[in-house]
Amino acid sequence: MRLIFHGPPGVGKGTQAGRISLEENINHISSGDLLRVAVDAKTEIGLKAKKYIENGLLVPDELIVNIVADKINSAECEKGFILDGFPRNLSQARVLDSTLEKAGKKIDRVFSFTASEEVIITRISGRRICKSCGAHYHEIFSSPLKENTCDKCGSELFQRKDDYPETIKVRLKVYKEQTETLIDYYNKKGILVEINCNGDKKEIQENILAGLQSMSEGKRDME
Ligand code: AMP
Repeated sequence: MRLIFHGPPGVGKGTQAGRISLEENINHISSGDLLRVAVDAKTEIGLKAKKYIENGLLVPDELIVNIVADKINSAECEKGFILDGFPRNLSQARVLDSTLEKAGKKIDRVFSFTASEEVIITRISGRRICKSCGAHYHEIFSSPLKENTCDKCGSELFQRKDDYPETIKVRLKVYKEQTETLIDYYNKKGILVEINCNGDKKEIQENILAGLQSMSEGKRDME
């Protein structure tokens, strides 16, 4: 099962990709996480990517495409994967298609996550992360017991630079200009399923699972 979770930043696709990857026992590939690891490790790619990420812009394709292609072709993705945050533009989508095609594979479903801009801004601007263990919190939805302090290890929490309000606006603009067009691209291929993310996490997860169920029923009917 090879899936793409598509949608604007902060819509909740990362959370859902984590849940569904556990449920279905497939790999979760987050291009944003791969880049953040490279930035923290100060690799050549990380050093180049840092300024784009902090300013809410897409990193150039050459910095991300090969990392994702290597992951997809790795043994850990043999059973399948969920791509979260990739592709982000048409040229990445085409590279993805040709990478899979060479291996005789294809994307089975693209879940397109939508939510109102108000919901998105509330979700992103409240996000806090532990400096030490990386645990995630939210100022409104899952605040720590003690202000700005991690419940798990007692370290201080921080806000990602690209989650600052002025950068969120840039990220949403970039999404509209470069990424949203992929809805059309995958719709034309007949593999797009829309998921409304204004509701709670459980409800969203159930909608995705229903989408997966209909996908496997469709496959059975064709056999
Ligand atoms: P995310 O965690 O997916 O919101 O990604 C955080 C940041 O990493 C984005 O704002 C971009 O700067 C960069 N990024 C992640 N995935 C991609 C991608 N597929 N193409 C270009 N830049 C990306």
